[in-house]
Amino acid sequence: MNKIFSIPFNGDTALMEEAAKTGKVAEIYFAGPAGNDLSQSYPVYGGGGDFSPRTISELIALCRDYEIRSNLLCNKPTLVFDDCPAAFRYIKSLKYLDAVTVADPYALAAFVKEFPGKDIQCSVSMVLDSFEKVRTILKLGAGTVNLHIDLNRNEAALKALFRLKKSYPGFKVKLLANSVCYHACPFYKWHDALETLAPLNNNKNSFGALLDANKCVFPKPTRSDLLRRPFIRPEDVDYYLRKNRADIIKLAFRSNNSETLKRTLWAYFEGSYKGNLGDVVGFGGQWRNLFCDNNRFPAGFAKKVMRAAADPFSGFFDSLAGRVFVDG
Ligand SMILES: [Zn+2]
Repeated sequence: MNKIFSIPFNGDTALMEEAAKTGKVAEIYFAGPAGNDLSQSYPVYGGGGDFSPRTISELIALCRDYEIRSNLLCNKPTLVFDDCPAAFRYIKSLKYLDAVTVADPYALAAFVKEFPGKDIQCSVSMVLDSFEKVRTILKLGAGTVNLHIDLNRNEAALKALFRLKKSYPGFKVKLLANSVCYHACPFYKWHDALETLAPLNNNKNSFGALLDANKCVFPKPTRSDLLRRPFIRPEDVDYYLRKNRADIIKLAFRSNNSETLKRTLWAYFEGSYKGNLGDVVGFGGQWRNLFCDNNRFPAGFAKKVMRAAADPFSGFFDSLAGRVFVDG
């Protein structure tokens, strides 16, 4: 198990170098500098987008030194309405950029055509939540595909997806391990869309209110719903790789401060975390003070949770909730 993690750049180049030295990092993903930031997330609510062109150039050089893939986020869901030619010019100015992530399926084909030598990746925000959707997007020339989080625990779909590699040799399966959204959240697409559109209303209206509500308005979530979130624990990563369920594990969040981000990264690098699981899989929001004891998860959890997730009437999550949460 070597270079398997895709990690976010939060502006701390020294932290990235420290992470690179572990030999665990496959890729660093980042927003473009001011003026060339086509990443959709967190344009106003903190984090990302404030880097200088020089910072980004140095980051790409660092990636090159450590043989790590550099991945520029152009994942605004409405990218096709932006100035794509300007984005193309900026990308061409980055001599050694390896990959670009897009969320807008209209824009995908244009990027593939413009940059045939680069890995044009599909963002989690493209919401590719079925085998058929992925198969279709591969026909447009996508390389690495960030699957929607709901596929993280869909063993049948993951198994079938790996078979597509025969027809699409550049296809790699990337799974997001930590996320603030729930399984089958009806608002998932709106989280990203609202963030992108927020500046239209000076970021002060109900968009902001929704975003402040932990970017999710999932109705009355319970502790069982929290465990149904399709997170991948640090201990579970080995299962996904060994069983060919994932090629790359993506870790969020690029808006985290360095102390928080480092805690998450090293938990995954070490494949083990002894504390509150919520610290590393991003429970956050109303769950911030809830302690979820990662030591109390059953052995072989990854396999068990895949099976439980396939049964909508499984009591697995209710009994797990009774076991892992510590009140006090
Ligand atoms: Zn949600």
